[in-house]
Amino acid sequence: MKRVVIKVGSSVLTETTNIAEERMLCLVSLITEARKKYEVILVSSGAVSAGYTAVKLNRTIPTSKKVLASVGQSVLMSSYKNMFDIYDVTISQILLTEEDFDSKVHTRIFQDIIDRTFKHDILPIVNENDISTTPDQLFGDNDQLSAHVAYYTGADMLIILSDIDGYYDSNPKDNPKAKIRKFVTELKEEELNQVHTPNSQFATGGIVTKLKAAQYLMDKGREMFLCNGYDLTSAREFLIDGVHNKGTLFT
Ligand code: ADP
Repeated sequence: MKRVVIKVGSSVLTETTNIAEERMLCLVSLITEARKKYEVILVSSGAVSAGYTAVKLNRTIPTSKKVLASVGQSVLMSSYKNMFDIYDVTISQILLTEEDFDSKVHTRIFQDIIDRTFKHDILPIVNENDISTTPDQLFGDNDQLSAHVAYYTGADMLIILSDIDGYYDSNPKDNPKAKIRKFVTELKEEELNQVHTPNSQFATGGIVTKLKAAQYLMDKGREMFLCNGYDLTSAREFLIDGVHNKGTLFT
């Protein structure tokens, strides 16, 4: 069976004051369907914003942000649990930091856990453990974490579900004439070094971290697909039907 990593951003999973239940349910249903065809690892952002639905702490203060993440991680997982229960899918929570990839010993431990998880037909849900770590032990965004997860678990593909249809020739939020790029085989230095442009107050990455994730995987001969997580039509077409209509394939 092929293996895929699906990464979903905060903006897809949460609205200002709530978990975006309907969107999450659509995602859960797509993942359940995809599991018939692939071994799926879900990398889910959204702990900090889910925490904010419960307590209104100031996320710009580092310790408060960690507290938000610690509150939000259980809010997030309990929502996933309720929704995956509908489909009888058992989930597991795996929290990682950059250190989990810093040696062969560490990556082996992680690989073994993932392999055993699949053996028992469990869906692993991965997030960054940003609670007890120092800033230099963190990826800081789940785009690059998910690229590492994809590479080290031998996944064939990383799918990033974002608030945008794909990668455009310029930021479509500033330029209404921006055109989507269907295929990307090469990224230029200036694309990888542009300023960060996360779209919401809880998003940490913006397009740059997605491009860095793509570059990391392309360097290793793997593919990444960036598409819309609000409307999962392109993701479903791509994953289930093998059709690439919308969305950007980095290859
Ligand atoms: P997520 O929460 O899904 O990780 P982000 O807000 O971090 O999403 O990143 C996606 C945002 O990046 C888009 O909404 C868009 O505003 C911005 N962006 C900047 N340049 C581009 C570009 N060339 N193509 C697509 N999106 C871009």
